[in-house]
Amino acid sequence: MKKMLDIELYNEKNALQNIPNIIRKHNIDNLLIVCDDNTYKAAGKKIEEILYDINIKKFNIGKDQYAYKNLCEQLHIFCKQNNITGILGVGTGTINDICKYTAYLSEIPYIIVATAPYMDGFCYTVAELIDDGFKRTLDAKVPIAVLGDPEILDNAPKELISAGIGDLIGKYICLADWKISSLVTDEVYDEKIAEITRQSVNQAMDSIEDIINNKEGSTLKLMDALCMSGIAMAMCGSSRPASGAEHHLSHFWEMRFLALNKKQILHGTKVGISSAIISQIYHKLSYVENISHLIKNPPVLNESYLYNSYGKLTDEVINDNYPDPIEKIDRNKLVSNWTEIRKILKSIVQPDKIRQLLKITGGSIYPSDIGIDNALVFEGVKFCRYLRPRLTMLRISDIIDIDTSKYIQIP
Ligand SMILES: [Zn+2]
Repeated sequence: MKKMLDIELYNEKNALQNIPNIIRKHNIDNLLIVCDDNTYKAAGKKIEEILYDINIKKFNIGKDQYAYKNLCEQLHIFCKQNNITGILGVGTGTINDICKYTAYLSEIPYIIVATAPYMDGFCYTVAELIDDGFKRTLDAKVPIAVLGDPEILDNAPKELISAGIGDLIGKYICLADWKISSLVTDEVYDEKIAEITRQSVNQAMDSIEDIINNKEGSTLKLMDALCMSGIAMAMCGSSRPASGAEHHLSHFWEMRFLALNKKQILHGTKVGISSAIISQIYHKLSYVENISHLIKNPPVLNESYLYNSYGKLTDEVINDNYPDPIEKIDRNKLVSNWTEIRKILKSIVQPDKIRQLLKITGGSIYPSDIGIDNALVFEGVKFCRYLRPRLTMLRISDIIDIDTSKYIQIP
């Protein structure tokens, strides 16, 4: 076990055996276990057996459930009515979001048992929930413990493991975005935090061979890296070290899928695919030797510019981007640091390498593999940069007279 920011991380063999101790230590005498059909089979049943002498209630969210905010509110009422003193989530994405938000509403501790290593939200303080048809990032609770048992994680479906790798690959881009932003604004870049993310991602990448060869315990490094990415966000107080242009593009696609009522694609799968596209744009941008004659004004973020892409969300996007973060850029610094910025862009893992990593892990590689057509790729690259008021190289390129869409090549 290692303890980071008051979160106990049990990414180790026989991790589940620690649950009784954790529960006792935190005086949880009436536990709610939240699972779905698959995660109950993968780990929930075993946990019930381990906790045979503890007061348990179980809530199965069913099959193919999304992380709806109103589901958390119902669960919160259930917790109050039943004097629940702690929540144990069995699952990863949806279950984790539901539990951390319900625990926040109910002001009780929660524990998460990961059933697949495919996203990095275990240790971070926000939950991504669907509210009124939109995905929102809401304040939530961090778990008191995260448990990753190799017996469970090694058996996770391959597409989930590949998604975990996809989410981690994106970190190379967002760390570059963060560093570049700090060179042109007064945003603080914390090398120590960036290094935590970078190192754990490198370690996970080094274990890919073992993962594809099904080596026992090989998914633990992946799980550990995903946890540490969350820790880095918590240390930073924002998702800055874990989310840049590649996440914005992925979120943009997700938002469109939600609007069209299309079945959602795993977060990490989208991030892996979008990372290759952003990496390609950034590498091509790095060939531009001089930008001093290319500085221009950014587009005006008004309804006529954004409505076609954002629809009902347009006002929210305009408000979020006011004052326009682009105004924080010192244009002289942008020009004078361009050589340094080019170096950072060149250092990002190459798009071909990203696609190769996704391929060997059996994941989707191209947007068309997940039902995203070229038009949505181009639209996403152009408009995803306004999803968050966060400076990325993509957003910064708004004041450089270069059409980034000409850099997109989709085979
Ligand atoms: Zn992510």
